[in-house]
Amino acid sequence: MRIGVNWGSLDQVLLTRMMDENSRLVEPKDAREVTMEAMVVSALNSAQLAEQFGLRPDQIILSAKVSGVQDLIDVYRALAARCEYPLHLGLTEAGMGAKGVVASSAAMGVVLQEGIGDTIRVSLTPAPGGDRTEEVRVAQQILQSMGIRSFTPQVTACPGCGRTTSTFFQEMAEQIQTYLREQMPAWKGRYIGVEEMKLAVMGCVVNGPGESKHANIGISLPGTFEEPKAPVYVDGRLFTTLKGDRIVAEFIGILDEYVDSHYAAREAVREEVSAKA
Ligand code: SF4
Repeated sequence: MRIGVNWGSLDQVLLTRMMDENSRLVEPKDAREVTMEAMVVSALNSAQLAEQFGLRPDQIILSAKVSGVQDLIDVYRALAARCEYPLHLGLTEAGMGAKGVVASSAAMGVVLQEGIGDTIRVSLTPAPGGDRTEEVRVAQQILQSMGIRSFTPQVTACPGCGRTTSTFFQEMAEQIQTYLREQMPAWKGRYIGVEEMKLAVMGCVVNGPGESKHANIGISLPGTFEEPKAPVYVDGRLFTTLKGDRIVAEFIGILDEYVDSHYAAREAVREEVSAKA
């Protein structure tokens, strides 16, 4: 059962009592500090009541909804220090677009790095007609970027610079990312560990190969004044060089083959396990 405390609807009796007590101190804390403390106390009191009504501690998860980055960090650090309940993280009313994504990532990134948090939620205000699944994608990306849990293969793409003459490498990175997203539902059911795969799509053959070699599969596209050819690296070694207008299709062919030959088929592993049993 999730017990949520929201700073917008915090127990006013508790808050008023704590503010009064604070005002009598020789050195009173500021109102923000008292409010954060009231959230922690309210969440812990509610959890205690839930236990008195028969819930086991492992059936309780606490959530403290605040909309400020520093508030989230402070309130969850305090909760983690004072209880063993699992904690659900989420910056409420994070906002629209980049502001919401950055604020959520900044706030949750700090506490996740400290080992605080068991589930997360990203709350973004969608643009009119916008897609709510964006919230899920951002939450997954936060966890995967931090190396906490993988959901889908990652594409590293360079930002582009004076060495790139066209937007081809950006379009290719986008096409590969879309292809991965489309394939993942099937791949996930078929191959073990495919979500850990790393790809690189780089814009020139001067600096591209270095990054490409760190990926499972990487391609460096020709930049300005470079020969029109694209070396492909597989597991750090030059695998082939692609040319012409079928580069994307051929790269996807290499990708499919790599997935099929490098990730164990779930079905085969299941059969092996049941044969041994
Ligand atoms: S990899 Fe090449 S094209 Fe991409 S940013 Fe670096 S130098 Fe520029």
